[in-house]
Amino acid sequence: MPYNIADPSREIDDLVVRQVQVFREKQDIDLRIGHRVQAIDRSAKAVSVVNVRGEAFTLGYDTLLIATGASPIILDRPGMDLPGVMVLKSLEHGRRIKEWLTTAKVKQAVLVGMGYIGLEMAEALRARGIELHMLKNNPNLLPWLHQDLSELVQKELDANEVRLHPGCDVKRVEKTDDGLEVICESFNIKAQLLLLAIGVKPNSELAAGAGLELGPRKEIAVDKRARTLDENIYSAGDCADAYHVVTGQKVWIPLALRANRAGYAVADNVTGRPVELPGVAGTAVFKCFDLEIARTGLTRHEAAQAGFDPVEIYITSRTRAHRHPGASEMRVAMVGDKKSGKLLGTQIVSREGAAHRINAPAVALHAGLTVEEFSRTDLAYAPPFSPVWDPMLTAANQLLKEMQS
Ligand SMILES: Cc1cc2nc3c(=O)[nH]c(=O)nc-3n(C[C@H](O)[C@H](O)[C@H](O)COP(=O)(O)OP(=O)(O)OC[C@H]3O[C@@H](n4cnc5c(N)ncnc54)[C@H](O)[C@@H]3O)c2cc1C
Repeated sequence: MPYNIADPSREIDDLVVRQVQVFREKQDIDLRIGHRVQAIDRSAKAVSVVNVRGEAFTLGYDTLLIATGASPIILDRPGMDLPGVMVLKSLEHGRRIKEWLTTAKVKQAVLVGMGYIGLEMAEALRARGIELHMLKNNPNLLPWLHQDLSELVQKELDANEVRLHPGCDVKRVEKTDDGLEVICESFNIKAQLLLLAIGVKPNSELAAGAGLELGPRKEIAVDKRARTLDENIYSAGDCADAYHVVTGQKVWIPLALRANRAGYAVADNVTGRPVELPGVAGTAVFKCFDLEIARTGLTRHEAAQAGFDPVEIYITSRTRAHRHPGASEMRVAMVGDKKSGKLLGTQIVSREGAAHRINAPAVALHAGLTVEEFSRTDLAYAPPFSPVWDPMLTAANQLLKEMQS
């Protein structure tokens, strides 16, 4: 959606990958849009539903899948219901933002939150020539990212004239004659759009109401087959938890591949082909203007919290061979466990090559490789794509030395 919003010539409906009638006509699925499930009655094996016409009824089930996703968190401050205060989660939100940019003639915007959606939207809004302020209450730009890598992202935002205000709390938002005024502790900002991008929370109220187990952030607890504590109820996607392949512990990392994969796994399990999901490594990537930012596995802090003895290194390598035209710097932070020798996590920031390169350490995490084993893997080389020693190998070699010292 951010990339679509960046381009006024594109229709937002470009993003619809499958129309309602394809489900109904080609796949013989009784798809009912505009219907909200209000409660689950586990003993009667039925859900109560109300539709947009206000008709209420119940539907029985043999097996139920709760795939209710997540909702954007709304800041608990006065003024969040004013026109021009928006969130981006559903296609409808995207449509509203896109229309608002034109109808409200947005020239200045404020973005609250500096997660990946906030940063992608920063790029989109700047691409549309909008003056942009970004606020967050935490003083660190991206607290989960290695400090030196985070500074690169900050420089990129500065270079693209995004005005950053980390450590700044929004007090309230007021309506003015020509838009909104965002009131912070030590300054106010006028804008026509305030976009909240401070994270999401799992839509688990139905599950909670039915007495199903929830995790610490209210995500629905499922086993490796995506089943809840009720053997007839599964849960998949942003509302459900997963196992982390490095720690073996439950985590809640709401991302698209896991949502998709868990959906397929539920279908297999329900139709008699038992499937266990190995879990997630927290692999993620996003773009911030001309930077690619990628991560997999644990940060040093997360590793320490999970009981590992983490060692971290930080290197600067190149995206292409020495002196090859277009080569630029690639920065890598890599974490290993001194006790077991295992690779625990990797982060990359570069102008090119980070997005796909992160998949090598991600696979290593799934395979439970030690840093030494990873450092011996046969990664591809040709001048336009990497130095002879891929930055992943250089980082692993450096980490190995550090772990053995
Ligand atoms: C702007 C944006 C960018 C993103 N970019 C990435 C990315 O680059 N990479 C990545 O991995 N992930 C990305 N994500 C996250 C990704 O979109 C989600 O992980 C994924 O869509 C989750 O799918 P889901 O099916 O669990 O939930 P959803 O797609 O949210 O679907 C949940 C559905 O349940 C319905 N529902 C909820 N409650 C009820 C109810 N009571 N009754 C009936 N229906 C109900 C909702 O209407 C909705 O249709 C992005 C998300 C956003 C918002």
